[in-house]
Amino acid sequence: MAPTTHTVTNQVPPLVGYDVFAADLALSEAVRRHLPAEPSAAALTELGELGRAAGSAQAQAWGAQADGNPPVLRSHDRYGNRIDEVEFHPAWHRLLGHAVGAGLTDAWGRPGGHVRRAAGFLVWTQAEAGHGCPLSMTHAAVPALRTDPALAREWEPLLTSTVYEEGLRPPGEKAGVLFGMGMTEKQGGTDVRSSTTRAQPLSAAGEYLLTGHKWFCSAPMSDAFLVLAQAPGGPTCFLLPRVLPDGTRNPFAIQRLKDKLGNRSNASAEVEFDGTWARRVGEEGRGLRTIMEMVAATRLDCVTGSAALMRQAAAQAIHHCTYRGVFGGPLIEKPLMRNVLADLALESEAATVLAVRLAAAYDADTEGERAFLRIAVPAAKYWVTKQCTPMVAEALECLGGNGYVEESGMPRLLREAPLNSIWEGSGNVQALDVLRALRREPSALNAFLQEVGRARGADHRLDRAIKGMLTELADLEGIEARARRLVERMATVLQGSLLVRWAPPEVADAYCASRLGGDRGSAFGTLPHSLDLAAVVERARPVDR
Ligand SMILES: Cc1cc2nc3c(=O)[nH]c(=O)nc-3n(C[C@H](O)[C@H](O)[C@H](O)COP(=O)(O)OP(=O)(O)OC[C@H]3O[C@@H](n4cnc5c(N)ncnc54)[C@H](O)[C@@H]3O)c2cc1C
Repeated sequence: MAPTTHTVTNQVPPLVGYDVFAADLALSEAVRRHLPAEPSAAALTELGELGRAAGSAQAQAWGAQADGNPPVLRSHDRYGNRIDEVEFHPAWHRLLGHAVGAGLTDAWGRPGGHVRRAAGFLVWTQAEAGHGCPLSMTHAAVPALRTDPALAREWEPLLTSTVYEEGLRPPGEKAGVLFGMGMTEKQGGTDVRSSTTRAQPLSAAGEYLLTGHKWFCSAPMSDAFLVLAQAPGGPTCFLLPRVLPDGTRNPFAIQRLKDKLGNRSNASAEVEFDGTWARRVGEEGRGLRTIMEMVAATRLDCVTGSAALMRQAAAQAIHHCTYRGVFGGPLIEKPLMRNVLADLALESEAATVLAVRLAAAYDADTEGERAFLRIAVPAAKYWVTKQCTPMVAEALECLGGNGYVEESGMPRLLREAPLNSIWEGSGNVQALDVLRALRREPSALNAFLQEVGRARGADHRLDRAIKGMLTELADLEGIEARARRLVERMATVLQGSLLVRWAPPEVADAYCASRLGGDRGSAFGTLPHSLDLAAVVERARPVDR
C-alpha cells in the first residue's frame, strides 16, 4: 500500500529474475574458451539453468533465510542422550540440494569437469556463500581418497552423486554423502604438524581409534571427515564417519558452534574424539601429503568463491547505479561513479578469468599444467582473496545508506569476504608457499613464466611488469619479508597476461594501466580518466544477454 505522506520514487528495483551466468560476460566467455568442444553445449545449457535458478527470487529468499537463521547445536535428545546434531534452517537444505543436484561436488576425471564445476560454483554461491563450504570439501576430498583405491571405490560414487540426503545415517544407506575436514587444533592451524590428536591402531585392516580434538570443524553434519592425527608412524590422514556401518553413532562430541563474523548459514564446530573409529587413508606418517591433496583443491575454491562474491558485489553496485538518479541523471553516468564501477568491474573480471584458467589447468592435468598450478594456486589464493574485502566494501558504498542495510544483501557479502583469505592457509601462508615452490620446484617457476610469457609483446606495461617481477625473483635478499610484495606482483602479472590475451581491449588496457603501470591511487575509483570506463562498466552490467 502506498504511504499517504509521500510517493516512493528513485528507489531501485531488486536485481532478481536474471541469468547470473549469461549476464556475466567475463565468466561465460571464459567457460566457452576453456571447455572442450564435446561437453560444451550440454555444460552451457546446464550453466544457463543454474544461472537462472541463482538469479531467481526463490534462491535469493533461501539465501537470506539460511543466513538469517543460523544453525543450532542439539547436543542431547530430550532424554539426555548425546546426539551431537546440528539443526539447519530448511533453506540451507534447499540450497545444498540444488547445488548437489547440479553436480557441484563432481569434477574429477571428466573432460572439462573442473571448468564446468568452477563456473557452476561461481554462479550458484552468489545466491548464498555459506553452503559453498561443504560443497567444496566434498569435491576436494576425492583426490585425497584416491590415494587408497579401495576407499575411493567405496566412497567416490557417493561424494560425486547428484543426490543430497540430509540427516545422519550409515553411508551405505545413502545415495549421496557430504565430507568435511578436520586439521586445525587449538595449538596450531597453520602448523598442522603440531597436531595432538592420537590414533591407536585397532586392526591390520587400517582401522584406528582416535582421541583428541579439532578446534574448527565446519559442516559437522557431514557424513564423514578427512582428519589428521598422530599415528605411531607420524601424522596420518584418516576417514572418520559420523555413523558406523552398523548404524551406531561414532563418538563425535560437538562442544560448541563458533559465533562467526560471517558464513552464518554454515556451522563451524569445536569437536572432541574419544575412542572414535576411523580408517587410515594412505600410509602412516604421510598424512600431510595426503590431506594436502584436499587442501590444494579447496584453495582453488577459495579463489572461485571470492570471484563469486566480487561478481555479485559488482553486479549489485552497477545495477543500483543504473537506476538510482542524483542531480538529474543516473549515477552510472556520473564520471566519478563510473570510475568506481569500472574499477570494481576490472577487479571482478580479473578474479573470474584467473579462477577459470586455474580450473582449466586442473582439467588438462598435464605435467606442465600441474607445475603451473603449484605456484599459480597459492599466488591466486593470496591475491584474489585479499582483494575481495576492500572491493566488496567499496561496492557496498555504491548503494549509499541502502548498502549498509541488511535487506540489500551487501552486509552479508562483506561479512563473508575475509573468510576465503583465512581458511585453507591464511595470506602469509600462501605467500610463503609460493616461496617454497620457487625454492624446491624449478619446473613450477618455468611453467608460470611460460604462461605469462604467452602475452609478451602485446602491452608495454605488462612487458615492464614481467621484467620487474624477474628482477625481484632474482634477488633473494630478505625474500621472506618481501614475500607478499613478490606474490602480489606475480598474481597481477598473471591476471594482466590473461586479460591481455582474452579480454576486450578496454578491459585489458584499464588493467595494465592501473594494476601494472601504476596509474592508480590506493582506493577504488582512481583509474586514469582517459580510459574507456563506460565500456568497462557496460560489459559488467548484470542484464540478460
Ligand atoms: C569459519 C572458519 C571455518 C573453518 N573451518 C575449518 C574446518 O572445517 N577444518 C579445519 O581444519 N580448519 C578450519 N578452519 C581453520 C582455518 O583453516 C585456520 O583458522 C587457518 O588455517 C589459520 O590457522 P590458525 O587459526 O591456527 O592461525 P595461526 O596458524 O595461528 O596463524 C595466525 C596468523 O599467522 C600467520 N602465519 C602463520 N605462520 C606464519 C609464518 N611462518 N610467517 C608469517 N606469518 C605466519 C597466518 O597467515 C595467520 O595470519 C576454519 C576457520 C574459520 C575461520
